[in-house]
This record gives sequence, structure tokens and C-alpha cells, in this order.
Amino acid sequence: MRRFDGDKLVIATHNAGKLREISALLAPFEVSVTSAGELGLEEPEETESTFIGNARIKAHFAAKASGLPALADDSGIEVDALGGRPGVYTADWAETPNGRDFVLAMTRVWEECEGIAAPEPRTARFVATLCLAWPDGHDEIFEGTTEGSLVWPMRGGNGFGFDPMFLPEGERLTFGEMAPEQKAEIAHRTRAFQKLVAGCFAR
Ligand code: IMP
Repeated sequence: MRRFDGDKLVIATHNAGKLREISALLAPFEVSVTSAGELGLEEPEETESTFIGNARIKAHFAAKASGLPALADDSGIEVDALGGRPGVYTADWAETPNGRDFVLAMTRVWEECEGIAAPEPRTARFVATLCLAWPDGHDEIFEGTTEGSLVWPMRGGNGFGFDPMFLPEGERLTFGEMAPEQKAEIAHRTRAFQKLVAGCFAR
């Protein structure tokens, strides 16, 4: 596995929630961080049907465009009653002509679940795939998941995306109700990041 020994890293995202969380995860390391948004890079089209495929597209695009190593996250929520949907297409379920609307997307997920006879609670998991790519085309991939279930109505105004309807296994608070540090202890993105640190950062 290739080690990261540079001092600059691009976070290949235009998603403010992901940027906040990944920046916090990187804070303890001696690396200066910028984002695809700050560099004015375009958002490449996510044409693959897997988390890994789309994480690779985003990381390689940013690494080539910036000439720096780049870290991308592709993530989503898999709902068992819906056969794993929206999964890779989680962000797409929020698309409207006026931008992304996650209240609409969460409502659609809940309504689709209600139309299906499945045991309660509605089990689901968040998945995050991180791709660290270098400008020469090399990459490393890491995956993390958090198991849980859906709640309705949604609860909490913290976090982003589907956080207000996701209750992690064994917890009382949804991701939307948790303080950022509490979510970070058990989040899919943190779990993928811990693998990245062990593989590429640890001395
Ligand atoms: P993409 O990786 O850009 O395709 O988008 C993934 C989507 O999954 C995000 O826009 C969020 O809606 C959702 N998602 C991923 N991780 C989280 C999370 O930690 N909390 C809430 N929603 C998330």
C-alpha cells in the first residue's frame, strides 16, 4: 500500500457536510488541506454504479486537475426494505430543478418503505468509500459502514443529508440529533478514514 508522505491534500468534494467532516478527521495530521470547491475544480459526472467507481472518478479527476494527491468520498444510505436503494444514487434522490432537497428525498424514502410490507424497524446502513488518488494514477480504497434503522418523522438539525432519519444501532439519538463529535465516533466515514490512516498515514 502506498504511503501518503506529502504535506498537501485536496478533498475532492463540493459537499459542505462531507468537507466539514473530512477536514475534522484530517485536523490531527500535519497536512494542509484544500477542497475541489476552493480550487474552482469542476464536479465530474458520477457515471459508475458502485461507490468505489464513483469515488475513483472524483479522486482521480481532482488529483489530475490539481497536481496534488486527492481524497474523495462516495457514500450513501442502503435501506434493506428497498433492496439497498437509494445506495449509490442517494444524492440523486434529492435532485430538484432548484438544487438538492434532502427533506424531499427522506420523505420519498419513508413513503416507499410504507408501501412495502417489511419488518420494523426499517434497517439501513450508511456506507462511505474513500479513494486517495495520486496525480500519477495510483490509488488506494477504504470502506466503512454504520448499521442502523430509519425513524420517522425525522429528528434533529445537525449533520447533513439523511442524518435526521438515521438512528445508529444501539443509540438513542439520530445522527441529526448528535453533536458532530458524537456522530464522528461511530460514523461510516470515520471508519473508512481509520483504515486510510492505518494504511497510508501511520508511521
Ligand atoms: P455522493 O457521495 O456525492 O454521491 O452523495 C452521497 C449522499 O449520501 C449525500 O449527498 C448524502 O445525502 C448521503 N450521505 C452520505 N454520507 C452521509 C452522512 O454522513 N450523513 C447523511 N447523509 C449522508
